[in-house]
Amino acid sequence: MKKKKLTALIKAKALTIGFSAVGISNANPGKELGHLAEWLDNGYEGDMSYMKKNSPLLRDPKLLMPEVKSIISVRINYLNDNDDLKKLLGSPKKAYIARYALGRDYHKILRGKLKSLSQYVKQISEDQVTRSAVDSTPVLEKAFAERSGIGWIGKNTNLIDSKSGSFFLLGELLTSIELDYDQEATNHCGTCRKCLDVCPTDAFVGPYQLDARKCISYLTIENKSEIPLRYRDAIGNRIFGCDDCQIYCPWNKFAKSHKDDDFSPRHHLDQRDLIDLFKWSYQEWSEKTLGSAVRRAGYDGWKRNLAIGLGNAPYDKEAIAILKSQSGQHSAMVNEHIQWAIGKLDLRSIEKLNIINKSSSS
Ligand code: SF4
Repeated sequence: MKKKKLTALIKAKALTIGFSAVGISNANPGKELGHLAEWLDNGYEGDMSYMKKNSPLLRDPKLLMPEVKSIISVRINYLNDNDDLKKLLGSPKKAYIARYALGRDYHKILRGKLKSLSQYVKQISEDQVTRSAVDSTPVLEKAFAERSGIGWIGKNTNLIDSKSGSFFLLGELLTSIELDYDQEATNHCGTCRKCLDVCPTDAFVGPYQLDARKCISYLTIENKSEIPLRYRDAIGNRIFGCDDCQIYCPWNKFAKSHKDDDFSPRHHLDQRDLIDLFKWSYQEWSEKTLGSAVRRAGYDGWKRNLAIGLGNAPYDKEAIAILKSQSGQHSAMVNEHIQWAIGKLDLRSIEKLNIINKSSSS
């Protein structure tokens, strides 16, 4: 079959399977290689040592699949209808969970769809080799997505599309077929720097440069130890990841909702009170996070993050009581965060009392 026809068939199939967009590039990550080297040299990856370890694979997809000629990049929207993210962030008793993590684990969703695409590619072009990649596979996915024209890498280091914003996930299918390549996407960030200015922990060292060690997504998910005191207030009610640099990006007024029930929130995780989630026992957490991306933080990480959220919430008798009742019942790391939260709420109750005393004496 001719290259042009194969390319058209594969792209049409990707959309039928449920991907929101598809583009194709060769297997050269291009200019992002320089960014990767700089990022690693600066140690911005923190404890994500697999990034350094996998850097040869990230630099050259041929080490992952020697026959690779083309990389098919796909994206899939994950936002829910009626999400009011700014309102949720402004509701300190509610838990904010990064929107990609509310439903079924996206790795499973993407892998399933990539498998269907791979089967199709093999069916229409016999003897071809393919390999699927989702974000746990060492592939510079944003670099290939940009090179395949399905979005540009914004100053917030996310992939952005002028018609769909950035609330989508990426996947790739490496293939040994030579296909028609798309034009690289052009950058439309212009003079905007909204994402850099709104980041709660100032994690952007500059445009296109994220120090992961300061990023709330890293601190609440990848980081398995205590969260440094200097970041705890800024974390607010974000108990798993952070979307601020996307929420405030002007291109996200064009963000599209998902069409796949697998992304729909489980256990009402889009609107839960912090205190309800903090009450989950290990057993409950284990059952309710099965097959969900929020499991990545682990139970200790979950309790730690919720304790910070409760410590940042307004004074609440029930919250203090539940924190106190669980004090000493967890790992030393979690207990330290519970103590911190109790201290913060106690302080708030004294401040509240002072205000009442002042107004009654005046
Ligand atoms: Fe680019 Fe502005 Fe969006 Fe940041 S907020 S990614 S600078 S358009």
